[in-house]
Amino acid sequence: MFTIDDLADRLGGYLPSEEIRQVKRAFYYAEQAHDGQRRRSGEPYVTHPLAVANILANMHMDHQALMAAMLHDVIEDTGVSKKSLAEQFGEPVAELVDGVSKLTQITFEDKAVAQAENFQKMVLAMSRDIRVIIVKLADRLHNMRTLGALRPDKKRRIARETLEIYARIAGRLGINTIRVELEDLSFQALHPMRSERIKRAVGKARGHRRTTIRQVQSSLQKCLDDDGLPGTVVGRQKHLLSIYRKMRDQRKPFAEIMDVFGFRIITDDVDSCYRILGAVHNLYKPVPGRFKDYIAIPKANGYQSLHTTLFGTGGMPIEVQIRTREMEAMANNGIAAHWLYKAGQTERPIAAGSHARAREWVRGLLEMQRQAGNSLEFIEHVKNDLFPDDIYVFTPKGDIMELPQGATVIDFAYSVHTDIGNSCIACRIDRHLAPLSSRLESGQTLEIITAPGARPNTAWLSFVITAKARSAIRHALKHQQHTESVQLGHRLLNKALADYELSLEELPQSALPALLKELSLKRSDELLESIGLGNRMAHAIAHRLASSVPSDQPTADSTTSDNAERSILISGADGMVINFARCCHPLPGDPVVGHLSVGKGIVVHRTECRNLAELKNDPDKLFALDWSENIQEDFPVALRIHMESRRGLVAELASLVTDADANIERIGIEECDARLSIVNLTLSVHDRVHLARIMKRIRNLPRVDKITRVRN
Ligand code: MN
Repeated sequence: MFTIDDLADRLGGYLPSEEIRQVKRAFYYAEQAHDGQRRRSGEPYVTHPLAVANILANMHMDHQALMAAMLHDVIEDTGVSKKSLAEQFGEPVAELVDGVSKLTQITFEDKAVAQAENFQKMVLAMSRDIRVIIVKLADRLHNMRTLGALRPDKKRRIARETLEIYARIAGRLGINTIRVELEDLSFQALHPMRSERIKRAVGKARGHRRTTIRQVQSSLQKCLDDDGLPGTVVGRQKHLLSIYRKMRDQRKPFAEIMDVFGFRIITDDVDSCYRILGAVHNLYKPVPGRFKDYIAIPKANGYQSLHTTLFGTGGMPIEVQIRTREMEAMANNGIAAHWLYKAGQTERPIAAGSHARAREWVRGLLEMQRQAGNSLEFIEHVKNDLFPDDIYVFTPKGDIMELPQGATVIDFAYSVHTDIGNSCIACRIDRHLAPLSSRLESGQTLEIITAPGARPNTAWLSFVITAKARSAIRHALKHQQHTESVQLGHRLLNKALADYELSLEELPQSALPALLKELSLKRSDELLESIGLGNRMAHAIAHRLASSVPSDQPTADSTTSDNAERSILISGADGMVINFARCCHPLPGDPVVGHLSVGKGIVVHRTECRNLAELKNDPDKLFALDWSENIQEDFPVALRIHMESRRGLVAELASLVTDADANIERIGIEECDARLSIVNLTLSVHDRVHLARIMKRIRNLPRVDKITRVRN
């Protein structure tokens, strides 16, 4: 059985002993944390993290990644917190473990196959440190190797997820050894019969051809040696899934696919690659149109090689790949090749962090591309894949939505549907209620709670970041303001008409259209809106309408016009056309008066407000208001308290206000002298009676001199 000491021996090849000691410490910690847990095979659970670490050791990953591998199931399975891991092993290791745990929590259900690409992006977006992905890939690889006696349906689900997500991510990152093994293991789990048949056929075919393979291999090797070219020829095998895919997609029989002999020639440098190409083309005739130069034009994941196909003796095709050792390492390990290389060097940039290395990898690709003098588009592609700017979140149905970094719940709601955004009132993130302004993170599941008749809030504009949400909110607010202005205009005009014992509904049919024409307005809504917004005077309009009514025409009987609204009822500030004056802070219960302010609608003032004095020159713009009976919201009010300076004053005021079921909005203290303080207090209260109660209690506090409500 593979033990921690075996691993430590292996690590001795590339890690200093202090780091090996830390890896061992992580192992013993995991062993203890998983104590009593067993794998399905019956082995102690800790054999799994140990095997994962071993896979990473083969890739020469650094000690932090290895420690994270040891601890990767500890948060998820044993309830150890991230915080205590950080205390034990440092922040970077805790971050890695946390990252891997988060990926583990996401399961890719069958119905999401169509979204596989988004899933891949989500996984990458969630792994801000590229080592998280590499640990997760190793974890998945070991789980696939030990799928064993799992229920067939469960096996298939995991295999499909592996194929659609993790094998592809490995491919994107160029980690081909892992990709190929994941693909073949998934293929075996998904199609045990087919894979078994191909496996047997491959073995048989290979046996038949052993001599031919040896002959071709030695004639290629001889050709290099004769020309003094450095290089080693090795035989190459296709993996099971790629044979299967070729049979399926190109509709080729097995024999035809296996009829191809594959070889790889590994050499020292790029120059030798091209010279070897010339030499083998001299030995066997090349098949026209089959030569590919991936050295000049690398693949998106950084793969470089020359590919050619030759006519062997008897016309059998021979596929040859020619590449340098570096290219070979890149082809097998991709982004992870950097760890392999760094290990041999004296200066090992561990402190530089893995992100720096990932960037280095991208920079390497960029350099390659620059030398190739080819479009940079592909590098953009790789960069976006590795460091996505976007975030990916789930709807409750498991669909993935893509949003820009920094997006909030409201952005999400509007991206689902404008109606959902408009009627959104609350939200659950991962089943917990969260504020609508919460910034989203990849991997979260969002559920929007809507209510019929709910409306967007102006405040949303201050935190949404998507253009779609912003313009939809603006549009809805504008529409809402329009509706409310029309309603208010209607009430104002009817109120003014009441003075003539008329109402809009009772006007002769021709009266309104005639006036609209005169004012060159198209619809009565436009007239009502302009009255509601204070751009036209209701009295002037009423006067003109009334004068167009012939005096002998019977008007409405006086009883109906009497009960017309003499004053307008206000029920709260949530509307767009009713505003409360900031100078006098009117409260329900206060005598108030409305002032029609151009473009703003009604501003409500207390009758005793000093600002009203100037407005009184303009009586047409003032009108009576009353408070409605059922007002839900709280209103701000300003108080000024003279009291003796003493300690604990603010605390005492605060608890008094809270006890009285009110809130402190703002508190400021001016010191007049050492003895006397003036406290400016802004509270929010229900109404005038509520305020009176609070003021009385403050007045009863010891050493309070005077308390007044600020009028202006
Ligand atoms: Mn695991």
